[in-house]
Amino acid sequence: MITEEIEKLIILQKIDEEIFEKEGEINSFPEKEKRFNREIEDIEKKIKEAKDDLKKIQLDRKEKELEIRSYEEEKNNLDKKLGTVKTNKEYEALLIEIANIKKKISDIEEEVLILMEKEEEIIKKEKILEEELKKIKEHIFKKIEEEKKKIENLKKELEIKKKEREELVKEIDFKAYNLYEKIRKNKKDNIAIVKIENGICSGCFMSLPTYIVERVKKKKEIVQCENCSRILY
Ligand SMILES: [Zn+2]
Repeated sequence: MITEEIEKLIILQKIDEEIFEKEGEINSFPEKEKRFNREIEDIEKKIKEAKDDLKKIQLDRKEKELEIRSYEEEKNNLDKKLGTVKTNKEYEALLIEIANIKKKISDIEEEVLILMEKEEEIIKKEKILEEELKKIKEHIFKKIEEEKKKIENLKKELEIKKKEREELVKEIDFKAYNLYEKIRKNKKDNIAIVKIENGICSGCFMSLPTYIVERVKKKKEIVQCENCSRILY
């Protein structure tokens, strides 16, 4: 009886849809896990950038502090020299030189202050990022664990469905099953048998000619959609 074969194919299609869905979910897990880990890597990258920035600024600051020290030494020497000069002219020239050095020192000191402020900012930013990282890591590891459990369950369910399928296939007419499989494997949505709804193939949504609908109604043979070749019922 063709009706019986169609009934069995409809059940088979339902099982195949479930298998398809479960396999899809199982196969998408590695990409999901990667996406989760990427969230962590993004923050780690930002932290590394902050650390690098901090190092650069600290180095810059140290250089400037060394510069200040060497100017201070120079100034001390000039201060000492002040007591030994003989003429007013020499004395005044030294005072000008000392003033120049003092100005240079205070300029660099200002730059050092700005750098210190920047350092503080970066340290604050880094701390916030570290806290964020900790939270996200906890959240993501938990999520990944949950996903893994879900995948384990899906794998078990999949095994059951596959056994169920095997049993059913044994009962289906070989030719009908082969046709079904040939169509299914050619379809991206994995669907090989579809219902006629209001004269329309619900696989490709094309309007079906009346003679096709009539042939399906007679239930004497397996009828395929002329457009998408899916089995109709
Ligand atoms: Zn169709």
